[in-house]
Amino acid sequence: TKENKANSSLPRYIRVNTLKSTVDKAVKALQKNGFKPVVHPIIPELLVLPPGTNLHGHALVKSGVLFVQDLASCLPVAATPSIEQHKIAVDACAAPGNKTTQLAAKLALTHPKEASVIAFERVPARAKSLKNTVTKAGANDKINVVEADFLEMDRMDKRWAQATLAICDPSCSGSGNVSVGEDIPVHTTEELQAFADHQFAIVQKAMSLPNMQTVMYSTCSIHQIENEEVVARLLKEHGAEWSLVSILPDWSERGETCKNLAERLCKRCVRASHAQKTHGFFVSCFVKRHAENIVDA
Ligand code: SAM
Repeated sequence: TKENKANSSLPRYIRVNTLKSTVDKAVKALQKNGFKPVVHPIIPELLVLPPGTNLHGHALVKSGVLFVQDLASCLPVAATPSIEQHKIAVDACAAPGNKTTQLAAKLALTHPKEASVIAFERVPARAKSLKNTVTKAGANDKINVVEADFLEMDRMDKRWAQATLAICDPSCSGSGNVSVGEDIPVHTTEELQAFADHQFAIVQKAMSLPNMQTVMYSTCSIHQIENEEVVARLLKEHGAEWSLVSILPDWSERGETCKNLAERLCKRCVRASHAQKTHGFFVSCFVKRHAENIVDA
């Protein structure tokens, strides 16, 4: 297909589900099958294989030991500062559950018994696919799928009042999700603003949880209006309580300088693109001001 052909210039990324195996074992198993996986230098559970490598029918993918997951999609969890300090997290916009299962596996590395993720999904059919992903990952004891609108939930509900980390990966224009050489989908300013308003509301709601300390905000959009400008608005409204912290210092591509966010703040955010051998993506991180690890000027 057109997509396969265009995508073939990007590497194939495979995430090892550490709930079911280890990176070493997965590498050895793939090597036995004639593959030559390389561990990603920034994301230790991610394997890099040559473009076009087809693993979709592979037994380890079918059994949920390996997940075909793009590098960009792994960034929010990989960029979470001091992730080992968190036990309970919410995923505000979870289906199909790639980041949810990555997050649960990561939390379980340091908190094998207590790690728990509350995963919200408002679209029933998508909640079903999320549940399938969770089962496949062997994470039914760690991930609680809540089929509800994150914006409508009671922020004081006992099921998530103890959460200290939130992953917010709301619906977006998807403009970063294009293959090499493919046209970027066209959206009107009004459409992009509608996405941005919803994205802002999701992050703001996550910040309102009573024990929240760290909120990750990401999109697969290339538009500033959905990325840096949403961050600017969040800082304008909540900057007294939340600071934007710098993430992934070894990642070269940074947030774009834009109208309403100072350059030093844009640089704290991360962008991904085909230049990084992955799809267009944006990640930012807010930390509660009284919490530890504040890196603010
Ligand atoms: N994080 C996912 C992953 O890595 O597999 C992808 C998330 S996708 C970009 C956004 C998802 O959030 C969609 O499935 C959408 O239905 C859901 N969503 C959007 N707004 C929501 C809301 N207010 N409450 C709950 N789910 C929402």
